[in-house]
Amino acid sequence: MQQWREAKARHRDSLLFFRVGDFYELFHQDAEEGARLLGLTLTSRNNGAAAKVPLAGVPAKALGDYLSKLVRLGRRVAICDQVEDPAVAKGIVRREVTETLTPGTILADNLLAERRNNFLVALVPAAGPDSGSGPGTWGLAALDLSTGELEVQGVPASDLSLELGRLEPSELLVPRSAADATALTGLAPLVPRTMRDDWIFEADVCSSELEKAYGVRSLDGFGFQSADTPLLRASGALVQYLAEVRPSGVTHLRPVRIKRPGRVMLLDEMTRRNLELTEPLRPGEEGGTLLHVLDATVTAMGGRLLRRWVLEPLVVAEDVWARQDAVTELVERPEAREAARQALADVGDLERLAGKIGTGRVTPRDLMGLARSLEALPAIPALLDAAASELVRSLGADLDCLEDTADLLARSIAEDAPPALQDGGVIRAGWSAELDELRSARDGARDFIATLEARERKRTGIASLKVGYNKVFGYYLEVTRANVGKVPADYMRKQTLANGERYFTPELKEWEEKVTGAEEQIGRLEAELFADVRALVGGAVARLQETGARVAALDVLAALAHVAVRRAYVRPEIHTGFELRIEGGRHPVVETMMPREEFIPNDLALNEEGSIVVLTGPNMAGKSTILRQVGLIQLLAQMGSHVPADAARLPVTDRIFTRVGASDNLARGQSTFMVEMSETAAIVHGASERSLVLLDEIGRGTSTYDGVSIAWAVTEHIHERIRAKTIFATHYHELTQLGDQLDGVKNMNVAVKEVGDSIVFLRRLMEGGADRSYGIQVARLAGLPDDIVERARELLAELEGTHSGGGEGLGRHGAHRPRSEAPPHQLSMFQVEHPMVSRLRSLDPDDLSPKEALDLLYELGSATRRGEDE
Ligand code: ADP
Repeated sequence: MQQWREAKARHRDSLLFFRVGDFYELFHQDAEEGARLLGLTLTSRNNGAAAKVPLAGVPAKALGDYLSKLVRLGRRVAICDQVEDPAVAKGIVRREVTETLTPGTILADNLLAERRNNFLVALVPAAGPDSGSGPGTWGLAALDLSTGELEVQGVPASDLSLELGRLEPSELLVPRSAADATALTGLAPLVPRTMRDDWIFEADVCSSELEKAYGVRSLDGFGFQSADTPLLRASGALVQYLAEVRPSGVTHLRPVRIKRPGRVMLLDEMTRRNLELTEPLRPGEEGGTLLHVLDATVTAMGGRLLRRWVLEPLVVAEDVWARQDAVTELVERPEAREAARQALADVGDLERLAGKIGTGRVTPRDLMGLARSLEALPAIPALLDAAASELVRSLGADLDCLEDTADLLARSIAEDAPPALQDGGVIRAGWSAELDELRSARDGARDFIATLEARERKRTGIASLKVGYNKVFGYYLEVTRANVGKVPADYMRKQTLANGERYFTPELKEWEEKVTGAEEQIGRLEAELFADVRALVGGAVARLQETGARVAALDVLAALAHVAVRRAYVRPEIHTGFELRIEGGRHPVVETMMPREEFIPNDLALNEEGSIVVLTGPNMAGKSTILRQVGLIQLLAQMGSHVPADAARLPVTDRIFTRVGASDNLARGQSTFMVEMSETAAIVHGASERSLVLLDEIGRGTSTYDGVSIAWAVTEHIHERIRAKTIFATHYHELTQLGDQLDGVKNMNVAVKEVGDSIVFLRRLMEGGADRSYGIQVARLAGLPDDIVERARELLAELEGTHSGGGEGLGRHGAHRPRSEAPPHQLSMFQVEHPMVSRLRSLDPDDLSPKEALDLLYELGSATRRGEDE
């Protein structure tokens, strides 16, 4: 218990699994928590005279399963192992925490998602005015321990949530003093946070720890500048934390990559969600994401990189063009593309293999897999040798295929290497003369033992006599009960069975010792040889990582080309001007869910003459689809991908914003109007002239007039102040008046055709606004009973009768009214007059006698009260 207390004191925030014999035990509060989380039986242990200690344990063999479960739940676990051999230890066996498992640093294959990075992110606030990065800037460092990538950047507090959205971290590391910082409030609420003392975030400590971790004398090579102190502190804290959770060290950290702002677009959570980039809005519909449609990658590395490309579109035209050239070339060279994809498919996860080598967890089977991967590589540069695209050439043509490592592995590791070293047979014949000799000695002895069976049968006359072997008793001669009497005098009994006896002879013993002696030596020698091979391969880790990164990029480019061909995408013309024009555009995801040709393509242009589109049409007409389609096409284009359209001319946007009305967003469980408005506020603050803003039904979360007013005011603001390209989808056809009144705002609608009492959705985008909402027709299509539909029609007619009396009611003619006839005061459409007001307005007081005036007052007063009662 003293050992336990010491270990626990150093790992207070972890569940401590303490090795006792064949079990790992949890004590005290850990036992209670473990019992709750893992369904273990809680018992107690009588600790001498002291009180009883709660206790829960798991068999050592099953530890892995329990750990998986805890880490998935976001819990930290420390493993306290026996670090001495119990057979030779004097007194109590020494124990130490050998590993800490945390969500951000897990390495086990079964815990990591293959096609997704697992980032641990450290966040450090700038230390004050002298830090140079300006107030409110944070250092953010992200490490994927499974691959060794370490990326660091300075991030304004306001962008922290966007960056975390891009990185999707599994764990955050923050200084204790910043725990309550406002910038961190509400940030990534589901991600576990690890707090550490401030000193590990101090600049001096961090520099020297980074130098130590990378084995360098100075950090100049990484390119830190004087203003980068927060970046240095964030990355330094990460490597110290790493030393804490993996005290045995790692050797595969890639050089710190400093990310400067302005190269990629940040996507906010609403946009990521609304456009369903990587996660579906409704869980379980994984096929409904952009990532799913695009993911034709054939390696796990490519899968991870594609996910990142989707979440960080480019914002520099040259960068986009370079990728476009690469995709175009791969589209235009189908044989090279398909051959390259085939070669890539044989390449294993080089990045994570490098991680396994760097953390000493590589198995013989992993090395065999590495050997096969390396063999597949040389085909790739051969195929891409003459590439015109500079990017393809730089990735593929001079790919380092690590021939030396491939050769080393081909010669050293057996083709049928077992998963674990202890199983034996790891080293290939011919690699070590000493090993070959030991193996042939062992095999010779085994062969001799095998010949004993025939000889002894003859000698003893027992035809059923058998030579056998088992792990506990070794070699034996087995005789059935009936024949025991015939056994010669030199047989010595070894083991009694239910219906026979097992024996050995001095001769058998002698040969057995030869076998076991050789086997022991073989085991030791194989372990040594394997360690040597591993060390040799370890020397190539950095090259392996570089090759892995290139293979990943090639895989993604080839996948984008493959999808472009398969789905008939075109290369958009990317320019630095303002205009956005899409001809025959399609929704990349929705089109895949319909039979071919059934999706109806549409044209859309946003330019200086019309940068804002008010898109009207009844519910279900296809407004949201068009809105998202434009967003997705723009995003695909800025990833460097081709796009689902007949032709497209697209600008480089700085941001893409989307906002979907509260009632469309129930899945989030917070469909309050407040949320909707704060999201709209974020767009209004963040958008610029170079942004693309997609608004779907804003203001729907409140009453009609409130909603229309807010939507109106937001559109006016975007029109006058921001001038961002904007599409505003709404079923409030009243908003078409905006298109009539503001230059640069145009009305479009998704057409429907009225057929008798019903409507047909044409899915065609047309100039002009919708003339009405067709709500009743849609309700009928949805199966509302006829009597209700009829009654609704009557009511609608009544309402329209009342409101259009003054000619200025909830207009039905917005789109068709010529501009010159627009009402002088644009908000007049909301002012539907109360009948009492009309009555008063029509009076001439001079015409009334005092008595008449008094009567009228009584009448109006009682009408008001009646109104209230009703
Ligand atoms: P709205 O936003 O106007 O209520 P949606 O955009 O949600 O309508 O579209 C309703 C449905 O119509 C979609 O789920 C889709 O199946 C279908 N749809 C939309 N646009 C098209 C199109 N261009 N071609 C074919 N089907 C479409």
